[in-house]
Amino acid sequence: MIKLLSTDFDGTLVDHHRDPPVSPELFQTLLTLRAHGVRWVVNTGRTLAHIVEGLREFEFPLEPDFVLTSEREVFRRDESGRWVDYGDWNSRCTRAHDELYETAWPLIDEVWKFVSTETKGRAIDDASGIGVVAASEEEMDRIVALCEEVCARLPEFHYQRNSIYLRFCHIDYSKGTALAELARLLEITRADIFATGDHHNDIPMLDGRFAKWVACPGNSAPEVKKIVRAAGGYVARGTAGDGFVEAIGHFSTAWQR
Ligand SMILES: [Mg+2]
Repeated sequence: MIKLLSTDFDGTLVDHHRDPPVSPELFQTLLTLRAHGVRWVVNTGRTLAHIVEGLREFEFPLEPDFVLTSEREVFRRDESGRWVDYGDWNSRCTRAHDELYETAWPLIDEVWKFVSTETKGRAIDDASGIGVVAASEEEMDRIVALCEEVCARLPEFHYQRNSIYLRFCHIDYSKGTALAELARLLEITRADIFATGDHHNDIPMLDGRFAKWVACPGNSAPEVKKIVRAAGGYVARGTAGDGFVEAIGHFSTAWQR
């Protein structure tokens, strides 16, 4: 059996277009995995407050053991149940970003100018991070093309895209490296980790570097499906939670060996 389950949240466990948004089979699958001693981490682009709210809103019958938020921060729960920094990763992450922004502002400005003049999107600079929201996927494709060009000029400067949202970041921090840090703290190796997600910001945890077992639901971005296939993973037919349940079923025989 695997030891750690890393799941994206929106579009992977939760389908906002369905009623109910999270299927009872998904809840049951999570409970069964927990009964087998598997630890569960939600690995999301949401902020800590936003994921806590999401777990409550969709009435998850169990809490994750860990949450990795904003595509880079690592939290565990303390004895009283509060979410707290796990190790010094988050403070190192904050410092790396503070230092990055000292030099990256002209590049961020360049992207923001493009967004305000060439698209219907807008800049974001708030508690959720520094980035952009586009009016459509097509617009975001154009913004990403510019980001690729701009990021090539500063090696530490990168971005994470989640559909029409984009967050600038330090290249060393992603859902993949945050997962690797959690695994290091828990002393769990790649061979015992399963990861699943549906969008571009999930790619760093789905390319096989940090989790041996990877999957994505049928509603995933084409680039995500390609990465998962290349890593020897499973592309589900079912969407969101149905795809998750399907993927766990697909791998369960291999895990029981
Ligand atoms: Mg998602």
